[in-house]
Amino acid sequence: MTSETLLKSVLEQSQADGVTVALVDSKLVITGSRPALGEWRGVLRELKPELLEMMRRAARPVSRRAAALVRRGVDRDAARALALLLVDQAARQDERHVCVECRHLSRVRDVYQCAQGRRIGFGGTPLAREQVVVLHRCRIFAPLDDGTVDVQAGATH
Ligand code: SF4
Repeated sequence: MTSETLLKSVLEQSQADGVTVALVDSKLVITGSRPALGEWRGVLRELKPELLEMMRRAARPVSRRAAALVRRGVDRDAARALALLLVDQAARQDERHVCVECRHLSRVRDVYQCAQGRRIGFGGTPLAREQVVVLHRCRIFAPLDDGTVDVQAGATH
């Protein structure tokens, strides 16, 4: 079995040569210029099952998180982009959060409200749809208990 480090290295090197390997609808799609593809086709074909498995594994947390955001009212495209950002941000130990992933946030149609608003200084003012997807520090952020959010310590509002 090929190590993940080697697989990542193959992806990086082929990308540097102008070949893009992407996961589209759970399938591996390889694009690039004819010469670059000529150079990399054999290696990528040989490693395809392992690349596919690695990329599917990497995509799972993003898909789960995007689905949770959609359930909380974020539209599908924005949810996918935000989920990618949040998964990457968590990997970088960035301690900011978005209200839309907090259990203190409630929603009635398109009106969002933070149940802890008084504790953090904005009373009962509703939050706009655009506000609930903005990354920020909040000392009382509480992740939804659906397991989609990595809890970060030490956040402050
Ligand atoms: S507690 Fe903080 S993160 Fe949670 S909804 Fe309120 S303002 Fe947003």
